[in-house]
Amino acid sequence: MNAKQNNANLGMEKKLAALQRRLERERQARKQAESILEEKALELYRTNEELRHLNENLERQVQARSKALMDSELRYKRIIESMELGLMEVDNDGIIIRAYDWFCDMTGYTSEELVGQKANEVFIAEDQLSTIQFQDENRKRGQAGVYELQIKKKDGTPIWVLISGAPLYDADNNIIGSVGVHYDITAQKNLQNELIKARQIAEQAQQAEKQFLANMSHEIRTPLNAVIGMTHLLFDTKLSPKQKEFLSILKSSADLLKGLINDILDFSKIESGQMEVAPREFDLIGLLKSLEKTFQLKVEKKAVEVETQIDPRIQNMFVGDDLMLNQILFNLVGNAIKFTNDGSVGVRVKVLKEENDDRLLQFEVFDTGIGIPAEKLKVIFEDFKQVSKEIKLKYGGTGLGLAITRRLIEMQGGTIWVESEINQGTTFSFTIPYKDAGRAAIIKNDKLPDQLTFSPKACKVLVAEDNMMNRKYIGTLLKKWEIKPEMAHDGQEAIELAKKQPFDIIFMDIQMPEVDGYEATIAIRNTQNINQNTPIIALTASALTREKDKAFSLGMNDFLPKPFAPIELLRCLNTHLSQNNEKETNCTETQQNNMEEVFTFNPKLDIDYLNDCYEGDLEYASDMFNIFLDFTLPEIEELEKTIATKDHDSIRKAAHKMKPAFAMVGLTHITDNMANIEQMAKESADISSIEHIFKETKKELNIFVPILQHELEKMKRFIEN
Ligand code: ADP
Repeated sequence: MNAKQNNANLGMEKKLAALQRRLERERQARKQAESILEEKALELYRTNEELRHLNENLERQVQARSKALMDSELRYKRIIESMELGLMEVDNDGIIIRAYDWFCDMTGYTSEELVGQKANEVFIAEDQLSTIQFQDENRKRGQAGVYELQIKKKDGTPIWVLISGAPLYDADNNIIGSVGVHYDITAQKNLQNELIKARQIAEQAQQAEKQFLANMSHEIRTPLNAVIGMTHLLFDTKLSPKQKEFLSILKSSADLLKGLINDILDFSKIESGQMEVAPREFDLIGLLKSLEKTFQLKVEKKAVEVETQIDPRIQNMFVGDDLMLNQILFNLVGNAIKFTNDGSVGVRVKVLKEENDDRLLQFEVFDTGIGIPAEKLKVIFEDFKQVSKEIKLKYGGTGLGLAITRRLIEMQGGTIWVESEINQGTTFSFTIPYKDAGRAAIIKNDKLPDQLTFSPKACKVLVAEDNMMNRKYIGTLLKKWEIKPEMAHDGQEAIELAKKQPFDIIFMDIQMPEVDGYEATIAIRNTQNINQNTPIIALTASALTREKDKAFSLGMNDFLPKPFAPIELLRCLNTHLSQNNEKETNCTETQQNNMEEVFTFNPKLDIDYLNDCYEGDLEYASDMFNIFLDFTLPEIEELEKTIATKDHDSIRKAAHKMKPAFAMVGLTHITDNMANIEQMAKESADISSIEHIFKETKKELNIFVPILQHELEKMKRFIEN
């Protein structure tokens, strides 16, 4: 063996040793890897196990939850079903997606019949569609709502349901439809309808009762009016003493009957709430004076003085219901005279409290008569109560007078009380709050009213009355005072006569066939004619407050309830004809004497504004009225055209330009309308509201233009004279 071979062997051995070492290393590494793998496999196994556990747990939980959910749904379903609430769900197109049992029972359908159908087509009648559409829109906007709806069942029967509707959301909060809870309210609705019907019937009955009352008042008073009227006339004819005696009995019985009917009617009016306080400006001193004079005439045959004492602080006009005050004082003074044989009766008035324009007045009606026993002082204010049977026998009456009086006083916010001593006398005291009108009352002529305070022959009177007896009565009375009235047999004839000649006063019966007194008054007041401003006095047998109010609101000046005594007619003539003579008048004879008088504008115009503006300069005023009628008035048409263009700026300018002209002729309220239009145009308001004001203004002008023309003529005549 040579060295070369030795070297080779040595090399091989080294390589082998190296290989063995590598093998060993690799074995070691594999072993390590195997043990790691084993470890990982174990870990994986453990994780797997945990996951399985978790899964099982989760499954159990899900099962438990869904059971709870199902339980809860079932519970609520049962609750809802047992609450008789019918649930139905629809999608956004109104297609039924679910109908619950009770809803099906309620409507007569099965769930299968309903699901997939359009709810509105199945249930809703034509006339209810708008309600449901409105609700559907709300639902889509996410708004819930509760409403009533009539739906039809499968067999066609309509039922009423109260629906509470709410939007239905999906998991992402999108609205996918709506759910409605339906509650059958058919029974309640039927009951409600029956109640409405019953109320309508009751209201109709009440209306009929009121109508009956008004008719009865008319029916009874008309013949009674004639009876009383005729007795007045008969007294003026030649009578034997026996006839005179019979006539006196006839008259006092008729008067008694009139009193009874008036009391009963007043009482039922108060009871049915038809009597209302109607405040207006009135002259308290004048009212008390005329009351005093009326009663002075009544006690002429008795040794009784009638006196009136007025607190010197009472100077002004007052605001309150003077008709009611008159009625109260008439009742109390009437009683005072009835129960007093000698001595005096009277009225005292004093101001109890003054604050700003509020005045609390205390009235005392005193007498020196028979008195009232102490134990009866309270009961006399009760309905139908009198002091004793003897009193009833001796003095008559219904026992209603004081009950009515008390109610009338309390309606006005006052109280009444009484103090009395047997055989010494009685004092009834009452308070009523009024407002001071802030201007002095005109002191009227103090003459007794049984004389005429004006020149009768010169005055022209128109009487419109359909009842022949009443015409004859009033005609004969007027003839006594040398007045020859023109007679109209109905409203139409009155209107025609009023167009032809000027009258100083018109007596207008309210209830006439065809054209009644109201309509005739409207025609006379609102159309251009010579009697547009003539005083019109309503004659009516019905003294209902609303009739009085209506009469005044239509422009009538006074109210003469039938049957009236001659003295009442006379008082009415004196009041209106002497007032008329004080102002402007149609009365031809007196006209010349009145030229010193101050010109007065028609009270329908803003007199204060006109007086301030012209300070009596009538030429200036008539020029302005002329300019207004000739130039301003046509501009109204222009304004109308401008409004039609809907151009706010032009409208504003036009209204602004016209605004002052109206006030210059006393139409301050139309100036206000123009200011409104101007302001609205400035704010670019809705054209329709501007048009509305304009329309109203035009209506007003139709009424006022004839008045302005009449005023212009009046001014011209006044200036000429
Ligand atoms: P009538 O209509 O019967 O007079 P009133 O209600 O007016 O009824 O009065 C009731 C009663 O009160 C009268 O019947 C009378 O007995 C009594 N009475 C009323 N006012 C007076 C008075 N001034 N003096 C005496 N008694 C009076």
